[in-house]
Amino acid sequence: MSQRKADGPAPHTPLISVVVPCYNEGEVVAEAHRRISTVMRALDGYDHEIVFVDDGSRDHTWDVLTSLARADNHVQLVQLTRNFGHQPGMMAGLREARGDAVVTLDADLQDPPELIPAMVERWGQGWPVVSGRRVARHGDTRFKVATAYVYYRLLKSLADHPIALDTGDFRLLDRSVVETLTRLSGDPGFVRGLVGWAGFAETSIEYGRAPRSAGRSKYTLRKMASLSHRGVMTCTATPARLPTAVGVAWLGGVALTSAVRRRPMPVAAWTFGGEALLLGILGEYLRLVHHEARGRPPYVVARRDRQHAVTPVTALAEPEEQAS
Ligand code: UDP
Ligand code: MG
Repeated sequence: MSQRKADGPAPHTPLISVVVPCYNEGEVVAEAHRRISTVMRALDGYDHEIVFVDDGSRDHTWDVLTSLARADNHVQLVQLTRNFGHQPGMMAGLREARGDAVVTLDADLQDPPELIPAMVERWGQGWPVVSGRRVARHGDTRFKVATAYVYYRLLKSLADHPIALDTGDFRLLDRSVVETLTRLSGDPGFVRGLVGWAGFAETSIEYGRAPRSAGRSKYTLRKMASLSHRGVMTCTATPARLPTAVGVAWLGGVALTSAVRRRPMPVAAWTFGGEALLLGILGEYLRLVHHEARGRPPYVVARRDRQHAVTPVTALAEPEEQAS
């Protein structure tokens, strides 16, 4: 994709960034660095950087990271003022990353860094998005696997843009995709949803999700619920139409009952339907506000192929200006 040609005579070595959000991962970051670094150093023809984002850790994560950075100049560090959460942390890393392609990866090594070369290869073939698709989740609880399975299928059916199934945040993004995402204003609450909204061509690589390398999950039940909630709220405003659907169905039912019984139904029977319809009107306005508040552009350009140089508007205006 954007393995850009050099401006000058020196050939451009494509840079791959690996973004790793960390929250209280003091036990695993050194091992994560070792595994990622081994893979990236062996990747011929590419330069790399590893961007660790410390999402307000309260353990010794930052100390370990600074000592890693002293020993390896490929390591870039960002520390957030407090714990903002995994998704904002990842977005901070995407903004810091300078790579022609950026890979996002969890610190706990559940996503094997050894898959990065295969992702880079697909990117080289022209895929702007290469996702890791989880075909087995050895390291996750049954509860997590089951709720994720149902949730993503439900979200896919509701969302107003594509949602990739069985993928998390282990993903390679071309620079063009990173630019699209980082230009968006507002809360990045659900990055995988944004990737689907952006609409770039996506392929996936299957993998088995490993157990956590050390420590415990930083996704508490509350954080998981909050992520799921953000997912629905940012990917769709369809639920705001629910009152309209309920109102229409209710009123239709009442009308049908009066027709069958050949006598008018009491006012009380109509009231609920009327109220639901009124809520539905509010819902329609809320949908509009939701659309505007997300602040997303109405479309994203994949590529351009223009046959003629465009004459700038100012150049067209010049002769008239001279004549006057
Ligand atoms: N994480 C983060 N901020 C948080 C919670 C998690 O940056 O508030 C990071 C965490 O350090 C890890 C990744 O997000 O690198 C995924 O978290 P975890 O492995 O705990 O989640 P799980 O795999 O259990 O869903
Ligand atoms: Mg994990």
